[in-house]
Amino acid sequence: MPSLSLKDRIKARIAADGPLSVARYMSICLADPEAGYYMTREPFGTGGDFVTAPEVSQMFGELIGASCLSAHEAMGAPDRFQLVELGPGRGTLMADLLRMAALRPSFIEAACLNLVETSPRLRKIQEETLAGSPLRPEFRTRVADIPDGPLILVANEFFDALPIHQFVKTADGWREREIGLSADGDLIFGAGAARLPEDAIPARIAGSAEGTIVETQPAANAIAEEIGARLAAQGGVALFIDYGYLKTAPGDTLQALYRHRFDDVLAHPGDADLTAHVNFEALAAAAVRGGAKALPPMAQGDFLLRTGLLERAGALGAGKAPEDQEAIRDAVERLAAPAGMGELFKVLAVTGTGISFLPFDSAA
Ligand code: SAH
Repeated sequence: MPSLSLKDRIKARIAADGPLSVARYMSICLADPEAGYYMTREPFGTGGDFVTAPEVSQMFGELIGASCLSAHEAMGAPDRFQLVELGPGRGTLMADLLRMAALRPSFIEAACLNLVETSPRLRKIQEETLAGSPLRPEFRTRVADIPDGPLILVANEFFDALPIHQFVKTADGWREREIGLSADGDLIFGAGAARLPEDAIPARIAGSAEGTIVETQPAANAIAEEIGARLAAQGGVALFIDYGYLKTAPGDTLQALYRHRFDDVLAHPGDADLTAHVNFEALAAAAVRGGAKALPPMAQGDFLLRTGLLERAGALGAGKAPEDQEAIRDAVERLAAPAGMGELFKVLAVTGTGISFLPFDSAA
């Protein structure tokens, strides 16, 4: 019997139970056990729907690795700590990070590697990618499953994949934006009954015009708060890297990417990647609520230049063929230039005790 497409299943569910919040829709599209995007797809490479920074160049993971070494030193070089990555994709960042970190054997000897990943398919790929690395990963489903000890945690393009809620300003106040069915049976957006929680947005945008959309990210904030509490209690640092904005502002940032093109968010559930820009003000506030300190976020371009991107590119290109050197220059541009990922992407460092580490000491 041919099974129903995810879109048809979503429609049937709305017909039976009523409209879905944007958060519920996002989580079904990304995580449905049979047809969810991360369960069935390998989106991250050049053949997929988007290319993430670690897939652009090995330099990205290597420079994150250098920051992890610096963090380990600033933490007093504990002889046991939990090295954690949230949502490792193909495992490329961690493989590059470990190759850099292996320059200091005491870091590798002290580290227990934890990969927080929900997709069984991606876990297998991550294991394969890390087959030649100096550490074997333990897979975890949630942050709460990470064993005790100080943390060094990285998350690249993880928070943007977590479900957001949207609220739209109507004549009757802020109402949750929902996905329902049109008279023709197509998926459409509408305003539902649920209201924006009080204090969810700053007063300066509460009086916005009708039709304005604001977003909240309770799933991302809950994880940031949990990590903040963990860092405050047991020490360590976390690096959150993602595209997003520094101050809460109105706007619809929900986007679908399908084969390298922006797509209608409702067109290809399960087949297109769905993400939203991360609100770094809210993410930092959540970590601070948990008890940690948040250092001022940096643009990804600044972060990479300050950790030695140009020097690393020079070393990598030395003695190589001109076309290889050209590819390295291209990667530098994509990772760090404002027209590439340099400004849209931000790096937020959160620490348990307020320690500073490269390159954040000069930014703090
Ligand atoms: N960090 C990688 C991949 C980013 S895509 C890179 O930069 O290339 C998002 C990753 O987060 C995927 O590995 C996805 O399976 C994972 N993921 C999404 N939601 C998750 C959740 N709730 N818990 C754990 N992992 C999740």
